[in-house]
Amino acid sequence: MTNLKQVDCDLLIIGAGMAGMAAAVFAAKRGISTVQCGSSGGLLFASGLLDLLGVFPVENGRTWDNPWDAIDTLTASSPDHPYARVGRETIRESFLELAAFMSDAGLPYRFQPHANSTVLTGLGTCKPTYGVPLSMWPGASALSDTPPCLLVDFKGLKEYSARQIVEIHKKSWPDLRAVRVTFPGTGKTAELYPEQLARSLEGEEIRVKLAKTIKKQLRGETCVGLPAVLGIYQTSAIMAEMEALLGVQVFEIATPMVSVPGLRIHEKVQLKLPPDKIRQFFSTRIERVESSTDNGFRLHARTMQETIAIHARGIILAGGRFLGQGLSADRFRIRETLFDLPVTQPAKRDDWHSLDFFERSGHPINRAGLEIDRSFRPLDRGGEPAYDHLFAAGSILAHQDWIREKSGSGIAIATAFAAVNAFFRQQ
Ligand SMILES: Cc1cc2nc3c(=O)[nH]c(=O)nc-3n(C[C@H](O)[C@H](O)[C@H](O)COP(=O)(O)OP(=O)(O)OC[C@H]3O[C@@H](n4cnc5c(N)ncnc54)[C@H](O)[C@@H]3O)c2cc1C
Repeated sequence: MTNLKQVDCDLLIIGAGMAGMAAAVFAAKRGISTVQCGSSGGLLFASGLLDLLGVFPVENGRTWDNPWDAIDTLTASSPDHPYARVGRETIRESFLELAAFMSDAGLPYRFQPHANSTVLTGLGTCKPTYGVPLSMWPGASALSDTPPCLLVDFKGLKEYSARQIVEIHKKSWPDLRAVRVTFPGTGKTAELYPEQLARSLEGEEIRVKLAKTIKKQLRGETCVGLPAVLGIYQTSAIMAEMEALLGVQVFEIATPMVSVPGLRIHEKVQLKLPPDKIRQFFSTRIERVESSTDNGFRLHARTMQETIAIHARGIILAGGRFLGQGLSADRFRIRETLFDLPVTQPAKRDDWHSLDFFERSGHPINRAGLEIDRSFRPLDRGGEPAYDHLFAAGSILAHQDWIREKSGSGIAIATAFAAVNAFFRQQ
């Protein structure tokens, strides 16, 4: 039998991906009594890079050095895009507020104020992004300056190959070299995962052993690139210690999922949020909305152990798309899963995807999502706000294609900021 718990709050945030986490940070800064529900899944996939806008319009694949110029162009041509709704100055404010919180939480980021930076990915590709975790920042300079550099990977580590990165870049970066070493204490282990390595590097003994192993491989290189496994809680200190032990600059490269930088955001933001204001229930799904009026919402959430009855005056819906399950698709249409809000989508299923899978302009289904008003309230079938105090943020919103635009975290952060501010102004 499961227990029933009652929880009251001013604001319920549904979702624990980047949009839900950012909304929790902004709500905490405004002193709003908040409950957050969702799984950490969204963030465990995220690379930790904070993209703002790298490509626009996606139809012609135009890339931009200055993401703010890109946002101006987008705002002029796509008034329904979430960025056009937020506005350039508010987007900037949202990034500054989040970055300051992250820095206090021990997650420092670097930005070039008016330019995207290009970083290496674990697949060997180059990616334009805006906010770069400090641990990856020296990698961006190394990519442009091409100093003698050693890329290290580990026997048994899945989906990351230093040799592959070198193969892709050897023409433009002749002094780049790859080496595969045994991670200390894992000689007989068949498969290694980034999270497991990051947790073991929290221990000093393993760090010293790893540094000794890598040092033996250096042939005059001035920097060392490692997969992003330099701890979860003390990354800056671990990086500084590795640099001191190796005598060269060290940087991290994002790995595919499970991504340690995403896990760091999940863990460290959680530790920094004030528990008296923000109560977080992870591995928890809102199962159903029991009642919803303009005065408040009653919902049921379920964890493995208990059912939680939540009463909230307002809600920020940050449930994501199909992966997060904020949207789902049956044979005929795409639905919003909790409130059955109307979803803007192609008229028929045959139009969801373009015939060419690699179609440059993307597939119409990627732009499906919720319509909102100026206060980020989802609209009902009559085009009016569905509820006075229901707001939406993140990738659940229509008229954006964050994967192709390289705008994932940016849309999540900026719209969470706008939605929390709209709720706060109603108080
Ligand atoms: C593989 C991958 C790589 C990425 N890399 C980058 C990158 O390099 N740079 C970048 O800027 N962005 C990146 N992103 C994007 C970014 O991390 C976010 O996924 C994206 O911005 C959307 O965030 P979101 O919070 O809107 O949705 P999601 O991340 O999908 O989160 C949705 C959340 O809602 C919860 N939820 C849904 N329904 C319910 C319910 N009924 N009850 C409770 N909870 C519910 C889910 O459990 C989940 O926690 C990447 C994403 C992925 C998947």
